[in-house]
Amino acid sequence: MEEVSRPGHVHGHMRFSFRYGRLLSIEDAMTDLPMAQPGTLTNLLGFTEPQMEKFIRSQRWPEYRAKQILRWLYQRRIRAISDMTDLPMHDRLLLSRSAAVGRSAQVTVLRSQDGTRKLLLTLGDGMTIEAVLIPDDERLTLCVSTQVGCLLDCGFCLTGRMGLQRNLKLHEVIDQILSAHDVLASDEHITNLVFMGMGEPLANLETLKATVTGLTNKPWGLGWSRRRITVSTAGLASRLTEVAALGVNLAVSLNATTEEQRRELMPAASELASLRSLLAACRRYPLTSHQRLTFEYVLLAGVNDQSADARRLVQLLKSIRCKVNLIPFNEFPGSHFHRPSAQEVLRFQSVLRDAGLDTFIRKSRGRDVFGACGQLGDLSGNRPSLALTPIETRC
Ligand code: SF4
Repeated sequence: MEEVSRPGHVHGHMRFSFRYGRLLSIEDAMTDLPMAQPGTLTNLLGFTEPQMEKFIRSQRWPEYRAKQILRWLYQRRIRAISDMTDLPMHDRLLLSRSAAVGRSAQVTVLRSQDGTRKLLLTLGDGMTIEAVLIPDDERLTLCVSTQVGCLLDCGFCLTGRMGLQRNLKLHEVIDQILSAHDVLASDEHITNLVFMGMGEPLANLETLKATVTGLTNKPWGLGWSRRRITVSTAGLASRLTEVAALGVNLAVSLNATTEEQRRELMPAASELASLRSLLAACRRYPLTSHQRLTFEYVLLAGVNDQSADARRLVQLLKSIRCKVNLIPFNEFPGSHFHRPSAQEVLRFQSVLRDAGLDTFIRKSRGRDVFGACGQLGDLSGNRPSLALTPIETRC
């Protein structure tokens, strides 16, 4: 759980306890909960269900109130504690003195001509993160971020150039999902969610797990099926078993067919796991009967898009139940990689298909709002995306 600062409201622990006597015992009783520092508010959306239950017990409130508050947060998407209208006014006031809902104050929505919507959310510390709503026929996919920037440094990815600023907190990831729901038209609903925005989700595992719980919980959460959720990784092989335990889909960003090529394209990721050990972990990944792995492969002209690359890819993926998504590189300013021609992309796909691999070419969406894969980032420290510059990747 994270805090938001409340300017002008300074309350040391003791002073706070003196003025709001009832809350002292709460804070003291909650030493292992992520409570706010003096001068800050605790974000309720950052509580897991057990944390919320403990919080409620410490307030000596009725037990049912934990789920009641979580429902307000997740299902009714309220932005202010005062909106929890079935809580007694006195309790709402008391709660407001030490806590906030935890939604971001500012959300800017950028619309692409192809219908893609990019949400820019300003965090409590002023940093900006992005979530993207991508329509595709009957599907509407939400792509969410798990870090500000990324700890990895894949050469073809704009986000990687930012470096890792920090991991996102639970309320900041959930806020992206709730904010996306807020901007939907009445006849729209999100069909799929991918953890494929800024950052490496498996580097922020606890937050990822808590987010999946909030997404899938039926009594108070969003009630999603786990089948609709995909976690994408650049290859943190040692953590794949933890993704398997979540019951969600796994996408692995491969992008290379030799150790050397992967070291060159994804230096940090290949240091964490060699191509060989990553694929070994993929082979061990427990798939249910309706599941298969997804391998993402960014096609870079003249680098990894040759027939020999395609043939090696076929060999590497032998005996893994999977599909392959080919992502023609989305160029961005300052990148020395190029997008292969449509013909070269089709040629690469046909080698894979002829070998019996289900292979799809991912459409580039949102090119005019920097919302396409690998373009989630801020090159200048400003917000180039606000200009809706017409150009057009992550893994
Ligand atoms: S491709 Fe993915 S893992 Fe690599 S730098 Fe970009 S966001 Fe991070």
